Amino acid sequence: MRFQVKGLETEVVVQLPSKNIFYGLPQDLRVKVRPMTVKEQKAMLSMNGNNVEDVINSIVFATCKYEDGRPLPQDLLIADRDFLLNEVRKITYGSDIEFTFTCDKCGTENKVHYDLNMLDVIPISDDFKLEDLQYTSKYITDEEGNPVVFQFIFPTITTVKQQNILSKNKRDILIYAGVVANIYGVVVTEVSDDGKTITTIKQLSLEDKKNLLEVLMQVPAVEVTNMLNFMKEHSFDGIQKSVTFACSSCGSDNDVVIINQDYFFPIR
Ligand SMILES: [Zn+2]
Repeated sequence: MRFQVKGLETEVVVQLPSKNIFYGLPQDLRVKVRPMTVKEQKAMLSMNGNNVEDVINSIVFATCKYEDGRPLPQDLLIADRDFLLNEVRKITYGSDIEFTFTCDKCGTENKVHYDLNMLDVIPISDDFKLEDLQYTSKYITDEEGNPVVFQFIFPTITTVKQQNILSKNKRDILIYAGVVANIYGVVVTEVSDDGKTITTIKQLSLEDKKNLLEVLMQVPAVEVTNMLNFMKEHSFDGIQKSVTFACSSCGSDNDVVIINQDYFFPIR
């Protein structure tokens, strides 16, 4: 006797919160999501502090494809990745999640249920422009002493990896590495022969970023605060990150992160 898989005909079709703006793909091109297989669930069980990003990405890339069959972009935004992870979780195990949180104020353990369909999806604004993510440094100049305009991007799978490389063996500079990893390039402005101003973005290599990190260590500390504030003001989550629950004992509010926590998948 031979066995075979009946099929994974269950799937959902969704639009990415980023609307493909960073991927050079049509805005209305949607993504098909299918449930995890046992094999993918097994990969999830091997997840630890070192490989968590790789395992999650491989599960999302295996279960999610564009509706025209092409794979997800290699430089997928974390916002889209987290949104898709929630879809994979729901279609595989259902939308009900049960977990325990410890109250910040009184220490009581609260066991709660939550419906993952209730998480707000936050699509990117229709009038979003790349220029919104350009930051002019007060303290870092180019070779000629001109202020440098940095082009930030929202965190992607690649920038998270770069952040880990940049902060290797230097846990204390994780925050600076995070800022530098999310700088995509510098804005180069040139005046052409006919007097027109042309603006291009010159991408930074990992080597450039290592150099920038060294330079960043030498500028007034306030510059990193400015950059962090800029990143916060221009953040894009794609999907609601945390939910507020009232403690059953003291009633105080607790913000609890939901997606990609230990309890996010029932088997882990
Ligand atoms: Zn409490």
